[in-house]
Amino acid sequence: MKKPGAMQAPKSRFDLVGGHVALDFVNTIGNRLDPKLRRDDLATTGNFTDWVAAVGLGPEPMQAPIQASDLDEVRRARETLYALFAAVIAHTPPDAESVVALNRMLGDIGAKRQLSAYGAGLRWTWRDGTGASEIVLFTILSQAAELLSSEAAGKIRQCQGDGCGWVFLDRARSGHRLWCSMRDCGNKARPGGIISASRRPAVQGK
Ligand SMILES: [Zn+2]
Repeated sequence: MKKPGAMQAPKSRFDLVGGHVALDFVNTIGNRLDPKLRRDDLATTGNFTDWVAAVGLGPEPMQAPIQASDLDEVRRARETLYALFAAVIAHTPPDAESVVALNRMLGDIGAKRQLSAYGAGLRWTWRDGTGASEIVLFTILSQAAELLSSEAAGKIRQCQGDGCGWVFLDRARSGHRLWCSMRDCGNKARPGGIISASRRPAVQGK
């Protein structure tokens, strides 16, 4: 007999191909490099709550409902991280504004963390009034900072699919992963064989 508890969880509607939570966060813009097909997967607070659950950052930090105004901060953080990842990918120094913005966000939200007694030791807690989205953002931004300042930053790549713009950590042994996904951009590039992906027509309906 099929027990409800044994049912498979519904497949996430988010394609988590980044291999790192901060990269998956940036990838919540679909077709980033194609203004006509560009899509924001965090268009609503519900989208954000779903994404947080999909990447395993919730539901605990999301117990308080997030507000529409919180999304503005979330989207700003996303663009700051994209600018920093794009610089690493392009082997160019990051723009000062993005570095300042990341430091500021980490400092502002980090100031809301505090150590509290826990048993014989301590644990990190959040001051009253800290927003649920801030707690999630702090995790994403901290992990992004760790990634950007580590050797693994050299493995951040951007999908070669036209207009795609998704970023990912290249864990392929060859270190030459080109596509966000073989099912998606990789598959679209296949017909035509040797034609470079960058010359192919824009991807459709991603
Ligand atoms: Zn792609």
